[in-house]
Amino acid sequence: MTPAADPPADSLAPPIRSDVLIVGAGPVGLFAAFEAGVIGLSCQIVDALDKIGGQCTELYPDKPIYDIPAIPSCTARDLVERLMTQCKPFDVPIHLDQRVESVEQRDDGRWTVRTGRGLVFDVAAIMLAAGNGAFVPQKLTLPEALPLESRHVHYSVPRVADFAGKTVVVAGGGDSALDWALALRKVARRVTLVHRRSGFSAADSSVASMRRAVEAGEMDFVVGAITGLSVQGDALKALTLRHIEGETQLETEHLVALYGLVADLGPIAQWGLTIHGGRVDVDTSNYESSRPGIFAVGDIANYPNKQKLILSGFHEASLALRKAYSYAYPEKKRVHIHSSYDAKLAEKVAAAG
Ligand SMILES: Cc1cc2nc3c(=O)[nH]c(=O)nc-3n(C[C@H](O)[C@H](O)[C@H](O)COP(=O)(O)OP(=O)(O)OC[C@H]3O[C@@H](n4cnc5c(N)ncnc54)[C@H](O)[C@@H]3O)c2cc1C
Repeated sequence: MTPAADPPADSLAPPIRSDVLIVGAGPVGLFAAFEAGVIGLSCQIVDALDKIGGQCTELYPDKPIYDIPAIPSCTARDLVERLMTQCKPFDVPIHLDQRVESVEQRDDGRWTVRTGRGLVFDVAAIMLAAGNGAFVPQKLTLPEALPLESRHVHYSVPRVADFAGKTVVVAGGGDSALDWALALRKVARRVTLVHRRSGFSAADSSVASMRRAVEAGEMDFVVGAITGLSVQGDALKALTLRHIEGETQLETEHLVALYGLVADLGPIAQWGLTIHGGRVDVDTSNYESSRPGIFAVGDIANYPNKQKLILSGFHEASLALRKAYSYAYPEKKRVHIHSSYDAKLAEKVAAAG
């Protein structure tokens, strides 16, 4: 599996041609990439996040999983690493930070798929392994936040240098909030961490580092909920904080709100697929959606008695890819070989070490 060095959003790079596009680098998307290689399909993976692993990485990396066949126990992070190792023989390009936005079927039956950052794919089939949808930052619900977005209100920190010499409030109590507050204090004029309570969900080591930095006078920590933004002209001036003693104002030029991520089916809902309860209806003989050539596997698939389990997604991907083969190579008859008898696969696995 290779992280792809994608061209800038405004480049006119030609479409990336492949047999299958896998949307989602969660456990099911990663296994699908392996299985595609086994049956002789080329594929590319895209994920909206900047890291692989889907829910396993984002929601419970250190929790043990006990129901993966033949692995009595491993953490979610470890499972993702094992899936990456399994994929290695096929060296599948993986495009991170790329949310798939639109699909369009051409007259020749192939699909043109576009991401929000300008990548274009030309594929015979699309494998949606998109879980609950793309993870997007949980945003402030204050109406005054929207016009300030990206200029004074931020949901990520793309460039630390943008905050040099500024006053910054970082809001949140998880790892991202604490890690960014600690990092920004080195360049900002003043950093204040704001969290609803004095307990944190971040790693103990990050909490200890933050408390040391506060004691050393390098940053501030305030308990409170952000209930309003004061704007002057088109710039942020202060936040209104509600806490036990009442409300106070905290002056700041920038607010970085790191409240975690929420899943959003987003653009996939507009693709003309039959969807129930935010999931894509599929035919369980091949996990194909209502649009032939688009498949849905893993948590995003909807059918009677669907179980949102990793092992169910593995099975679904395996069957879906066999049907996808007929779109990529309509003239060929795919001959089934057990992996234990597949000499070419054995060579590839050996070469990958
Ligand atoms: C706390 C917790 C514990 C769990 N424990 C277990 C367990 O013990 N055993 C078990 O079997 N299951 C467990 N699960 C469930 C399991 O994690 C899911 O079934 C599994 O992650 C589904 O995998 P997936 O690949 O289908 O989707 P996900 O893991 O959700 O990955 C989907 C990926 O698709 C990406 N994506 C979505 N939309 C787009 C788009 N438009 N463009 C680009 N990328 C997109 C997302 O960013 C995401 O990375 C647990 C879940 C949780 C939350």
